[in-house]
Amino acid sequence: MTISDIREQKISEDDMKALEKLEKGPWPSHVTELKKTRYPIEYYAWGVMHKYSPWYSGSFRVRYVFSGILARRSRDGKVSEVHFRTYSPAGRFLSTAYLKKIAYVAEQYGIGLLEFAGNTGAIVINIQPDKADQAIDIIRNVMGSDVGGSGDTFREFYACPGPALCEFALYDTLAAMDFFRSHPEIYKFLNTQLFPYKLKMKFSGCPFDCAGANARSDFTFIGTWVGAPEVDQEKLREMIKSGKVDPKELAKRCPSGAISWDDDKQQLKIDGDRCLKAMNCIKMAFPAIKPGKNRKIAMLVGSHAQAHYGPRLSWGVALLDDYKEALPFILKVIDIYSNNAPRRHRLADLILRRGFRLISDAAKETLPDKPKAAPSSHLRFTTGVVLSDDERVTYAEWAKSLVKDYYGGEQ
Ligand code: SF4
Repeated sequence: MTISDIREQKISEDDMKALEKLEKGPWPSHVTELKKTRYPIEYYAWGVMHKYSPWYSGSFRVRYVFSGILARRSRDGKVSEVHFRTYSPAGRFLSTAYLKKIAYVAEQYGIGLLEFAGNTGAIVINIQPDKADQAIDIIRNVMGSDVGGSGDTFREFYACPGPALCEFALYDTLAAMDFFRSHPEIYKFLNTQLFPYKLKMKFSGCPFDCAGANARSDFTFIGTWVGAPEVDQEKLREMIKSGKVDPKELAKRCPSGAISWDDDKQQLKIDGDRCLKAMNCIKMAFPAIKPGKNRKIAMLVGSHAQAHYGPRLSWGVALLDDYKEALPFILKVIDIYSNNAPRRHRLADLILRRGFRLISDAAKETLPDKPKAAPSSHLRFTTGVVLSDDERVTYAEWAKSLVKDYYGGEQ
Protein backbone atom coordinates (compact mmCIF):
# COMPACT_ATOMS: atom_id res chain seq x y z
CA MET A 1 0.00 0.00 0.00
CA THR A 2 1.39 3.41 -0.93
CA ILE A 3 1.34 6.48 1.31
CA SER A 4 -1.38 8.07 -0.79
CA ASP A 5 -3.48 4.88 -0.39
CA ILE A 6 -3.01 5.14 3.39
CA ARG A 7 -4.05 8.80 3.33
CA GLU A 8 -7.29 7.93 1.55
CA GLN A 9 -8.38 5.43 4.19
CA LYS A 10 -11.42 6.53 6.19
CA ILE A 11 -11.68 6.36 9.99
CA SER A 12 -13.34 3.07 10.81
CA GLU A 13 -14.88 1.23 13.78
CA ASP A 14 -11.77 -0.97 13.86
CA ASP A 15 -9.55 2.06 14.44
CA MET A 16 -11.56 2.99 17.52
CA LYS A 17 -11.53 -0.62 18.76
CA ALA A 18 -7.74 -0.65 18.54
CA LEU A 19 -7.66 2.22 21.02
CA GLU A 20 -9.51 0.09 23.58
CA LYS A 21 -6.36 -2.02 23.93
CA LEU A 22 -4.45 1.08 24.98
CA GLU A 23 -6.86 1.59 27.88
CA LYS A 24 -6.23 -1.84 29.38
CA GLY A 25 -3.45 -2.73 31.78
CA PRO A 26 -2.36 -1.60 35.23
CA TRP A 27 -0.74 1.68 34.10
CA PRO A 28 -2.48 5.03 33.49
CA SER A 29 -3.75 5.23 29.92
CA HIS A 30 -3.09 8.33 27.81
CA VAL A 31 -6.14 7.35 25.72
CA THR A 32 -8.42 7.44 28.77
CA GLU A 33 -7.01 10.83 29.67
CA LEU A 34 -7.36 12.17 26.12
CA LYS A 35 -11.00 11.08 26.09
CA LYS A 36 -11.66 13.39 29.03
CA THR A 37 -10.74 16.36 26.82
CA ARG A 38 -12.34 17.57 23.59
CA TYR A 39 -9.45 16.20 21.53
CA PRO A 40 -10.69 14.52 18.31
CA ILE A 41 -9.77 11.06 19.48
CA GLU A 42 -10.96 9.29 16.31
CA TYR A 43 -8.15 10.99 14.36
CA TYR A 44 -5.66 9.78 16.92
CA ALA A 45 -7.09 6.25 16.52
CA TRP A 46 -6.65 6.46 12.77
CA GLY A 47 -3.03 7.59 13.21
CA VAL A 48 -2.22 4.75 15.61
CA MET A 49 -3.75 2.13 13.30
CA HIS A 50 -2.10 3.37 10.12
CA LYS A 51 1.22 4.44 11.71
CA TYR A 52 0.83 7.67 9.82
CA SER A 53 -0.04 11.16 11.01
CA PRO A 54 -3.71 12.02 10.54
CA TRP A 55 -2.75 15.70 10.28
CA TYR A 56 -1.51 17.98 7.53
CA SER A 57 0.44 21.01 8.63
CA GLY A 58 -1.45 24.27 8.33
CA SER A 59 -1.05 27.88 9.31
CA PHE A 60 -2.97 30.29 11.47
CA ARG A 61 -2.50 33.99 12.10
CA VAL A 62 -3.41 36.26 14.96
CA ARG A 63 -2.72 39.97 14.51
CA TYR A 64 0.53 41.19 16.10
CA VAL A 65 1.65 37.66 16.98
CA PHE A 66 4.58 36.56 14.87
CA SER A 67 5.57 33.22 16.36
CA GLY A 68 4.38 30.61 18.86
CA ILE A 69 1.26 29.58 16.96
CA LEU A 70 1.13 26.27 15.13
CA ALA A 71 -1.80 24.88 13.26
CA ARG A 72 -2.78 21.66 11.54
CA ARG A 73 -5.85 20.25 9.87
CA SER A 74 -7.09 16.71 9.59
CA ARG A 75 -6.49 14.93 6.31
CA ASP A 76 -10.24 14.93 5.56
CA GLY A 77 -10.35 18.70 6.17
CA LYS A 78 -13.09 18.44 8.79
CA VAL A 79 -11.11 19.35 11.92
CA SER A 80 -8.46 21.96 12.54
CA GLU A 81 -6.25 22.36 15.57
CA VAL A 82 -4.35 25.40 16.79
CA HIS A 83 -1.56 25.24 19.34
CA PHE A 84 -0.09 28.11 21.29
CA ARG A 85 3.38 27.81 22.71
CA THR A 86 3.76 29.70 25.94
CA TYR A 87 6.76 29.97 28.22
CA SER A 88 7.78 27.91 31.24
CA PRO A 89 9.48 29.26 34.33
CA ALA A 90 13.18 28.29 34.45
CA GLY A 91 13.60 24.72 35.70
CA ARG A 92 9.87 24.23 35.07
CA PHE A 93 8.95 25.22 38.61
CA LEU A 94 5.26 25.92 38.07
CA SER A 95 3.32 27.40 40.97
CA THR A 96 -0.21 26.16 41.56
CA ALA A 97 -1.49 29.70 40.90
CA TYR A 98 0.18 29.72 37.47
CA LEU A 99 -1.05 26.20 36.70
CA LYS A 100 -4.61 27.22 37.55
CA LYS A 101 -4.37 30.13 35.11
CA ILE A 102 -3.05 27.93 32.29
CA ALA A 103 -5.71 25.30 33.00
CA TYR A 104 -8.38 28.02 32.83
CA VAL A 105 -7.15 29.16 29.40
CA ALA A 106 -7.06 25.55 28.14
CA GLU A 107 -10.58 24.91 29.41
CA GLN A 108 -12.25 28.16 28.33
CA TYR A 109 -10.46 28.87 25.07
CA GLY A 110 -9.16 25.47 24.09
CA ILE A 111 -10.11 21.83 24.20
CA GLY A 112 -9.03 21.19 27.78
CA LEU A 113 -5.62 19.88 26.84
CA LEU A 114 -2.14 21.03 27.87
CA GLU A 115 1.20 19.59 26.90
CA PHE A 116 4.17 19.95 29.23
CA ALA A 117 6.39 17.39 27.55
CA GLY A 118 8.86 18.03 24.81
CA ASN A 119 12.45 19.14 24.81
CA THR A 120 11.67 22.73 23.83
CA GLY A 121 10.63 23.59 27.38
CA ALA A 122 7.50 25.36 26.09
CA ILE A 123 4.01 24.66 27.42
CA VAL A 124 1.62 23.89 24.58
CA ILE A 125 -2.02 24.89 24.86
CA ASN A 126 -4.57 23.62 22.38
CA ILE A 127 -6.83 26.54 21.39
CA GLN A 128 -10.11 26.76 19.53
CA PRO A 129 -9.45 28.82 16.37
CA ASP A 130 -12.41 31.18 16.89
CA LYS A 131 -11.22 32.04 20.42
CA ALA A 132 -7.58 32.61 19.54
CA ASP A 133 -7.62 36.43 19.84
CA GLN A 134 -9.18 36.29 23.30
CA ALA A 135 -6.78 33.56 24.39
CA ILE A 136 -3.75 35.70 23.43
CA ASP A 137 -5.13 38.59 25.48
CA ILE A 138 -5.64 36.37 28.51
CA ILE A 139 -2.18 34.77 28.24
CA ARG A 140 -0.51 38.18 27.98
CA ASN A 141 -2.63 40.24 30.35
CA VAL A 142 -3.82 37.77 32.99
CA MET A 143 -1.17 35.05 33.02
CA GLY A 144 1.67 37.55 32.49
CA SER A 145 3.28 35.26 29.94
CA ASP A 146 3.49 35.44 26.15
CA VAL A 147 3.21 33.31 23.05
CA GLY A 148 6.32 32.66 20.96
CA GLY A 149 9.22 30.36 20.29
CA SER A 150 8.20 28.63 17.10
CA GLY A 151 9.43 29.03 13.54
CA ASP A 152 12.69 30.81 12.77
CA THR A 153 13.20 32.20 16.26
CA PHE A 154 14.96 31.46 19.49
CA ARG A 155 12.98 28.49 20.74
CA GLU A 156 11.91 28.39 24.39
CA PHE A 157 15.00 28.07 26.59
CA TYR A 158 15.51 25.16 28.91
CA ALA A 159 17.40 24.82 32.19
CA CYS A 160 17.93 21.90 34.54
CA PRO A 161 16.61 22.52 38.10
CA GLY A 162 20.20 23.27 39.12
CA PRO A 163 20.79 24.69 42.60
CA ALA A 164 17.07 24.62 43.42
CA LEU A 165 17.10 20.84 43.70
CA CYS A 166 20.46 19.38 42.93
CA GLU A 167 23.67 19.07 44.92
CA PHE A 168 25.80 18.84 41.77
CA ALA A 169 24.88 22.27 40.38
CA LEU A 170 28.02 24.29 39.67
CA TYR A 171 26.28 27.54 38.73
CA ASP A 172 22.78 29.00 38.92
CA THR A 173 21.12 27.60 35.80
CA LEU A 174 17.76 29.19 36.66
CA ALA A 175 19.21 32.68 36.97
CA ALA A 176 21.17 32.13 33.74
CA MET A 177 18.06 31.15 31.80
CA ASP A 178 16.09 34.09 33.23
CA PHE A 179 18.92 36.48 32.39
CA PHE A 180 19.08 35.51 28.72
CA ARG A 181 15.37 35.02 28.14
CA SER A 182 14.41 38.36 29.64
CA HIS A 183 17.26 40.31 28.07
CA PRO A 184 15.68 42.66 25.49
CA GLU A 185 18.40 41.90 22.91
CA ILE A 186 17.54 38.18 23.13
CA TYR A 187 13.84 38.27 23.98
CA LYS A 188 12.99 40.04 20.74
CA PHE A 189 14.19 36.95 18.84
CA LEU A 190 11.68 34.72 20.67
CA ASN A 191 8.77 36.65 19.22
CA THR A 192 9.90 37.63 15.74
CA GLN A 193 11.09 35.27 13.06
CA LEU A 194 14.36 36.84 11.94
CA PHE A 195 16.71 33.85 11.68
CA PRO A 196 17.43 31.51 8.76
CA TYR A 197 16.14 28.73 11.01
CA LYS A 198 15.72 28.07 14.73
CA LEU A 199 18.26 28.63 17.51
CA LYS A 200 18.16 26.99 20.93
CA MET A 201 19.82 27.75 24.26
CA LYS A 202 20.04 25.30 27.15
CA PHE A 203 21.62 25.35 30.60
CA SER A 204 22.91 22.38 32.58
CA GLY A 205 24.37 22.79 36.04
CA CYS A 206 27.03 20.10 35.66
CA PRO A 207 28.42 17.68 33.08
CA PHE A 208 25.60 15.18 33.77
CA ASP A 209 23.77 17.55 31.42
CA CYS A 210 20.17 16.83 32.41
CA ALA A 211 18.98 19.56 30.03
CA GLY A 212 20.44 17.58 27.11
CA ALA A 213 22.25 20.78 26.14
CA ASN A 214 25.37 19.24 24.65
CA ALA A 215 23.31 17.33 22.09
CA ARG A 216 20.38 19.64 21.44
CA SER A 217 21.16 23.31 21.55
CA ASP A 218 22.93 25.91 19.47
CA PHE A 219 24.18 27.74 22.58
CA THR A 220 25.08 25.40 25.43
CA PHE A 221 26.12 26.27 28.97
CA ILE A 222 27.39 23.49 31.22
CA GLY A 223 28.81 23.86 34.72
CA THR A 224 32.32 22.47 35.02
CA TRP A 225 35.61 23.03 36.89
CA VAL A 226 39.30 23.26 36.16
CA GLY A 227 41.64 20.48 37.29
CA ALA A 228 40.82 17.37 39.29
CA PRO A 229 37.69 16.67 41.34
CA GLU A 230 38.05 17.26 45.08
CA VAL A 231 38.74 14.09 47.06
CA ASP A 232 38.10 13.74 50.80
CA GLN A 233 40.50 10.83 51.38
CA GLU A 234 39.21 10.12 54.89
CA LYS A 235 35.58 9.95 53.78
CA LEU A 236 36.58 7.85 50.79
CA ARG A 237 38.39 5.32 53.00
CA GLU A 238 35.22 5.07 55.13
CA MET A 239 33.12 4.41 52.03
CA ILE A 240 35.61 1.78 50.87
CA LYS A 241 35.60 0.15 54.31
CA SER A 242 31.80 -0.03 54.37
CA GLY A 243 31.80 -1.64 50.89
CA LYS A 244 30.06 1.28 49.17
CA VAL A 245 33.00 2.02 46.88
CA ASP A 246 35.51 -0.23 45.13
CA PRO A 247 38.60 1.95 44.43
CA LYS A 248 39.90 -0.37 41.71
CA GLU A 249 36.57 -0.23 39.89
CA LEU A 250 36.62 3.56 40.33
CA ALA A 251 40.00 3.74 38.58
CA LYS A 252 39.00 1.24 35.89
CA ARG A 253 35.88 3.14 34.90
CA CYS A 254 37.55 6.52 34.48
CA PRO A 255 37.29 7.11 30.70
CA SER A 256 40.68 8.83 30.46
CA GLY A 257 42.59 6.69 32.98
CA ALA A 258 43.17 9.77 35.17
CA ILE A 259 42.54 7.87 38.43
CA SER A 260 44.99 5.68 40.29
CA TRP A 261 44.65 3.97 43.66
CA ASP A 262 47.65 3.66 45.95
CA ASP A 263 47.04 0.51 47.99
CA ASP A 264 49.93 1.14 50.42
CA LYS A 265 48.96 4.69 51.26
CA GLN A 266 45.25 3.97 50.83
CA GLN A 267 44.99 7.10 48.68
CA LEU A 268 43.19 8.00 45.49
CA LYS A 269 44.99 10.21 43.00
CA ILE A 270 43.32 12.04 40.13
CA ASP A 271 45.34 13.67 37.39
CA GLY A 272 43.53 16.98 36.79
CA ASP A 273 45.07 17.45 33.32
CA ARG A 274 43.60 14.19 32.12
CA CYS A 275 40.21 14.53 33.84
CA LEU A 276 37.44 14.74 31.22
CA LYS A 277 34.76 15.84 33.72
CA ALA A 278 32.78 12.68 32.97
CA MET A 279 31.34 12.77 36.54
CA ASN A 280 31.72 9.00 36.79
CA CYS A 281 33.89 8.95 39.92
CA ILE A 282 31.64 11.60 41.52
CA LYS A 283 28.55 9.52 40.78
CA MET A 284 30.20 6.44 42.31
CA ALA A 285 31.75 8.03 45.40
CA PHE A 286 29.77 11.15 46.25
CA PRO A 287 30.23 12.92 48.71
CA ALA A 288 33.81 11.67 49.15
CA ILE A 289 34.54 12.87 45.60
CA LYS A 290 33.04 16.20 44.55
CA PRO A 291 33.50 18.60 41.64
CA GLY A 292 36.62 20.78 41.99
CA LYS A 293 36.41 24.20 43.62
CA ASN A 294 37.70 26.22 40.63
CA ARG A 295 34.26 26.34 39.01
CA LYS A 296 33.61 27.55 35.47
CA ILE A 297 30.88 27.47 32.87
CA ALA A 298 31.74 25.71 29.62
CA MET A 299 30.16 27.46 26.65
CA LEU A 300 29.66 25.30 23.60
CA VAL A 301 27.86 25.84 20.30
CA GLY A 302 26.22 24.05 17.45
CA SER A 303 24.53 20.82 18.54
CA HIS A 304 21.17 19.62 17.26
CA ALA A 305 19.18 16.46 16.70
CA GLN A 306 18.02 17.30 13.18
CA ALA A 307 19.51 19.51 10.53
CA HIS A 308 20.86 19.61 7.02
CA TYR A 309 23.91 17.41 7.69
CA GLY A 310 22.43 15.16 10.40
CA PRO A 311 22.66 15.17 14.21
CA ARG A 312 25.78 16.34 15.99
CA LEU A 313 27.22 17.29 19.38
CA SER A 314 28.47 20.73 20.35
CA TRP A 315 31.85 22.34 19.72
CA GLY A 316 33.53 23.80 22.81
CA VAL A 317 34.12 27.56 22.63
CA ALA A 318 35.29 29.01 25.95
CA LEU A 319 35.37 28.63 29.72
CA LEU A 320 33.49 31.43 31.46
CA ASP A 321 33.49 32.66 35.05
CA ASP A 322 29.98 34.09 34.70
CA TYR A 323 27.23 33.33 32.18
CA LYS A 324 26.65 37.07 31.58
CA GLU A 325 30.05 37.25 29.87
CA ALA A 326 28.54 35.28 26.98
CA LEU A 327 26.09 37.97 25.85
CA PRO A 328 28.36 39.88 23.40
CA PHE A 329 29.51 36.56 21.90
CA ILE A 330 25.94 35.35 21.44
CA LEU A 331 24.88 38.60 19.78
CA LYS A 332 27.89 38.41 17.46
CA VAL A 333 27.13 34.79 16.50
CA ILE A 334 23.46 35.68 15.91
CA ASP A 335 24.68 38.35 13.51
CA ILE A 336 27.01 35.94 11.72
CA TYR A 337 24.34 33.25 11.52
CA SER A 338 21.62 35.62 10.28
CA ASN A 339 23.87 37.08 7.58
CA ASN A 340 25.54 33.92 6.34
CA ALA A 341 23.39 30.81 6.81
CA PRO A 342 21.10 29.71 3.97
CA ARG A 343 17.42 29.15 4.81
CA ARG A 344 16.72 26.06 6.96
CA HIS A 345 20.37 25.61 7.92
CA ARG A 346 21.20 25.34 11.62
CA LEU A 347 24.24 27.00 13.20
CA ALA A 348 26.19 23.73 13.00
CA ASP A 349 25.42 23.48 9.27
CA LEU A 350 26.98 26.92 8.83
CA ILE A 351 30.04 25.86 10.86
CA LEU A 352 30.41 22.72 8.74
CA ARG A 353 30.13 24.73 5.53
CA ARG A 354 32.33 27.68 6.49
CA GLY A 355 34.58 26.33 9.24
CA PHE A 356 34.86 26.75 13.01
CA ARG A 357 37.03 29.87 12.50
CA LEU A 358 33.81 31.83 12.08
CA ILE A 359 33.02 31.03 15.72
CA SER A 360 36.53 31.16 17.16
CA ASP A 361 37.10 34.61 15.62
CA ALA A 362 33.86 35.82 17.23
CA ALA A 363 35.05 34.39 20.56
CA LYS A 364 38.46 36.07 20.23
CA GLU A 365 36.77 39.41 19.60
CA THR A 366 34.10 39.22 22.29
CA LEU A 367 35.81 37.13 25.00
CA PRO A 368 39.44 38.25 24.74
CA ASP A 369 40.55 37.05 28.18
CA LYS A 370 38.85 33.65 28.40
CA PRO A 371 40.43 30.23 27.78
CA LYS A 372 39.22 29.20 24.34
CA ALA A 373 38.95 26.33 21.96
CA ALA A 374 40.81 26.49 18.65
CA PRO A 375 39.68 24.76 15.43
CA SER A 376 42.19 21.99 16.00
CA SER A 377 41.91 21.68 19.80
CA HIS A 378 38.36 21.98 20.99
CA LEU A 379 37.94 22.14 24.75
CA ARG A 380 38.24 18.66 26.17
CA PHE A 381 34.84 18.06 27.53
CA THR A 382 32.49 15.14 27.92
CA THR A 383 28.96 14.83 29.23
CA GLY A 384 26.88 11.85 30.27
CA VAL A 385 27.79 8.79 32.30
CA VAL A 386 30.18 5.90 31.94
CA LEU A 387 28.53 2.51 32.01
CA SER A 388 29.94 -0.61 33.63
CA ASP A 389 30.34 -3.75 31.50
CA ASP A 390 27.17 -5.20 33.05
CA GLU A 391 25.19 -2.05 32.31
CA ARG A 392 26.42 -2.05 28.70
CA VAL A 393 25.22 -5.65 28.26
CA THR A 394 21.85 -4.85 29.89
CA TYR A 395 21.27 -1.86 27.59
CA ALA A 396 22.41 -3.76 24.48
CA GLU A 397 20.00 -6.60 25.28
CA TRP A 398 17.18 -4.21 25.97
CA ALA A 399 17.78 -2.48 22.61
CA LYS A 400 17.82 -5.88 20.86
CA SER A 401 14.53 -6.87 22.51
CA LEU A 402 12.95 -3.60 21.34
CA VAL A 403 14.05 -4.26 17.77
CA LYS A 404 12.72 -7.81 18.02
CA ASP A 405 9.35 -6.65 19.40
CA TYR A 406 9.00 -3.99 16.77
CA TYR A 407 10.22 -5.83 13.66
CA GLY A 408 9.49 -9.37 14.78
CA GLY A 409 13.06 -10.62 14.43
CA GLU A 410 16.75 -9.77 14.84
CA GLN A 411 17.90 -6.83 12.70
S1 SF4 B 1 22.62 18.76 35.06
FE1 SF4 B 1 23.76 18.43 36.96
S2 SF4 B 1 23.13 20.15 38.23
FE2 SF4 B 1 21.58 19.98 36.65
S3 SF4 B 1 20.00 18.63 37.54
FE3 SF4 B 1 21.39 17.34 36.34
S4 SF4 B 1 22.86 16.57 37.86
FE4 SF4 B 1 21.85 18.37 38.78
